[in-house]
Amino acid sequence: MKPSPFTYHAPTTTAELTELLGTLDDVRIIAGGQSLMPMMNFRFVQPGHLIDLNTVGGLAYVDVQRDFIEIGASTRQRFLQRSQDIAKHMPIVGEALSHVGHRQTRARGTIGGSLCHFDPSAELVNMAALHDAVLTLTSVDGDRSISFGEFGLGFLTTSVQPNEFLRSVRLARWPEGHGYGFEEFAMRHGDFAICAVSCLMTLDDRGAIDRLAVAVSGVSETPVRLTEMEGRLRGTMPDAGTATDLAAAAGDIEAMSDAYITSDYRSHLARVITRRAFTKATERADQRVR
Ligand code: FAD
Repeated sequence: MKPSPFTYHAPTTTAELTELLGTLDDVRIIAGGQSLMPMMNFRFVQPGHLIDLNTVGGLAYVDVQRDFIEIGASTRQRFLQRSQDIAKHMPIVGEALSHVGHRQTRARGTIGGSLCHFDPSAELVNMAALHDAVLTLTSVDGDRSISFGEFGLGFLTTSVQPNEFLRSVRLARWPEGHGYGFEEFAMRHGDFAICAVSCLMTLDDRGAIDRLAVAVSGVSETPVRLTEMEGRLRGTMPDAGTATDLAAAAGDIEAMSDAYITSDYRSHLARVITRRAFTKATERADQRVR
């Protein structure tokens, strides 16, 4: 399989990049190429112009701030997985990344490419939902920052406009010592998950839930935060009953079906995996906070 003919562009600055995006039609940005190249080779997409993000400087970094960690869009998945800053302040991201494809794909794949590709079960898309991501999009007109809810519109669809690129993403930090758990079910290791669930938690002095976030992905076209339950469970003890309530809420998400996986099975997985992720987060929070 070969892609259809295209013109290749290699800008070296964001100004050159936005200029190209603003003037050319029928354009695609290439970052790691781990999703785009297969799609081009199968001719699912046939861009007339390919703009390389890899030649643009200053887009690969991890910047730890008090309330958030900002990550440049070109930051490789492998770099994030090995980052001491991520391991220290946001360990669930490293855990989730170990499920993203394979070492070879992570060596090229970027966080920005994964978010812009917006596969509903992509682990980094789940992380963005979990951490209330704020995404910065850049065009010749300047920067605009949008919430994760505004960014992800549906299956492989985002609100990034043709004249824009994703410059960076900010993930909200949680207090040191928070509990975290990431669980997924895939047919084989390295495959996209059928369902993935992530959970963050802090406990108060009594060991009751002080703060909770749960993101369920792969079940519907965008990851779903169990926002109502997150609020309702505040102040309750993280026990088997709480896990059951949370699992039930995950099972209530309206689930997609396709030729291989029924909606009932997806809902079943959502219940089982939510319980596991919550239990893991509870165990870790137990050991660290109180
Ligand atoms: P590219 O493929 O270069 O681009 C993807 C899309 O995003 C394109 O439409 C491109 O135009 C657009 N884009 C990229 N960067 C930007 C930007 N900064 N601004 C605007 N648009 C942009 N992913 C998972 O999540 N989980 C898995 O289990 C998994 N398994 C995989 C297994 C294999 C064998 C392979 C080949 C891939 C797998 N992937 C998986 C996909 C992988 O994570 C990709 O790296 C990711 O989906 C896309 O990142 P990329 O940097 O390669 O982007």
